[in-house]
Amino acid sequence: MKLHYNIPLSSLSYYRIGGKAQTVIEVTSEQDIRNALEYRKDNKIENLLVLGMGANLLLSDKQFDGLVLWLHGDGSGCELVGKDVIKVFAGESMDTLLQYALRKGLVGLEWAGGLPSTVGGAVRGNAGAFGSEIRNTVLEVSSIDYVSDDKRLYTFKNEECSFSYRHSIFKDNPSFLITSVTFQLRAGTKEEVEKAWQTYHENIAYREKNHPMEYPSCGSVYMNIVKKDEVDTILGIWPDVKKISDEKWHGKISMGYIIHRLGFTGKKVGGAQVSPKHSNYIVNVGQARSEDIIEIINDIKDTFHQTFGFYPTPEVMIQETT
Ligand SMILES: Cc1cc2nc3c(=O)[nH]c(=O)nc-3n(C[C@H](O)[C@H](O)[C@H](O)COP(=O)(O)OP(=O)(O)OC[C@H]3O[C@@H](n4cnc5c(N)ncnc54)[C@H](O)[C@@H]3O)c2cc1C
Repeated sequence: MKLHYNIPLSSLSYYRIGGKAQTVIEVTSEQDIRNALEYRKDNKIENLLVLGMGANLLLSDKQFDGLVLWLHGDGSGCELVGKDVIKVFAGESMDTLLQYALRKGLVGLEWAGGLPSTVGGAVRGNAGAFGSEIRNTVLEVSSIDYVSDDKRLYTFKNEECSFSYRHSIFKDNPSFLITSVTFQLRAGTKEEVEKAWQTYHENIAYREKNHPMEYPSCGSVYMNIVKKDEVDTILGIWPDVKKISDEKWHGKISMGYIIHRLGFTGKKVGGAQVSPKHSNYIVNVGQARSEDIIEIINDIKDTFHQTFGFYPTPEVMIQETT
């Protein structure tokens, strides 16, 4: 493990936003995580922030007086533990895992091409794209409850993870630190593996073309509307959306569409802007502060509430400021 002092968290977050952190411990293995937690205990550090790739986090501009545990795989954390089963350190990137799997002839994760994420971050938020979700291939998840003294490893089988849209049991229990994940994949034929590589590259290209990758962001800021009663409420107010909801969004409603229709596309506050390319992305077009992004998030929330009578659910995690 490596210790860094007084480094700007903006350099570790996808948004390029974040104040200085007193101490950052870079961990590249499960043993490193244990050592880092020991360090925290020995030095009596109260505040802990777990950071993966920082692709779903809006960090505060203020100094973080605590310990940042930065899970940062070095590319060596994947292990084939069965014919078609891979165990991986939680800090490895999804891209490392995906490429490792395909090189072993295993398919099932290619949908995640271009997804900026560590494996742990993806499992915690049940990341998904192009009609797939990570839960479909998770066999089990190992984690440590960092507030408990014994630091024992808890293993959750897939069905114990309470996975649902962008949700898992780890979101409800933030002190459960995911240390490794075991994936059940499928051995593909030569043609299937070639097709999977193609899907991987196509999905990266799709993101490059359709998402505002030229600016720092955190991906979609709000979750799509998936609950039936909420979909029905919106359709009651905007009945013309039913056709596109049925035909394009499988009965759900795209939050990007709603934000656009509510008139926010292109709206700027300071260095933050609702992307003209994808309205559910609020991008950092230059020196945005955390408050700039939060102001737009709140404006959207209020207008949404005035229009539909309920609040949308943020997808981005906003760091509490102390
Ligand atoms: C350009 C762009 C496109 C995106 N597209 C998609 C998409 O298509 N689909 C999608 O689902 N998401 C998407 N996202 C969001 C992001 O990629 C996912 O949410 C991703 O899984 C976040 O992983 P991370 O490692 O960056 O987590 P971080 O942002 O570092 O952390 C997110 C949260 O998880 C916690 N956490 C991180 N690691 C662990 C761990 N090991 N154990 C416990 N808690 C942990 C953190 O404390 C934090 O609360 C996109 C983001 C960007 C920037």
